[in-house]
Amino acid sequence: MQAPDPDYRLALELLSAVVGLMVGSFLATVVLRLPKNLPIVLDRSACPHCGRTLTPIELIPVVSWIVLRRRCRACGGPISAFYPVVELLSALVAVASVHWMPWPGAIVACLAGWCVLVVGGLVIRKWVPGSAGPGAQI
Ligand SMILES: [Zn+2]
Repeated sequence: MQAPDPDYRLALELLSAVVGLMVGSFLATVVLRLPKNLPIVLDRSACPHCGRTLTPIELIPVVSWIVLRRRCRACGGPISAFYPVVELLSALVAVASVHWMPWPGAIVACLAGWCVLVVGGLVIRKWVPGSAGPGAQI
């Protein structure tokens, strides 16, 4: 079997990182909302302090957390590091899957890794009170 073109491989890993960040944003929402029986898909993300619905710019994974200096743009309330940590772990799972697994096993490995991430997040949230920080209620 011929080795993949390095440019193609790098592009695929960058694409998987971006997809991993976006999926990670959703996974963080799942971990935070599922135990509270809150809607996961139909409800827009909002500031846990003032309740303001987040704008699309504020939903960009990791970047918005850094640009906003970990604070809500409207009320200044702290935004938990839980979000970027889950987003980065999700991106890591995606890149590692694409890097080390052949197709289509990479997709299966990535989905399995994301499931482990959600279950691990739920377990940590259950057994370590306050583990997501004060800015991670919704
Ligand atoms: Zn706010």
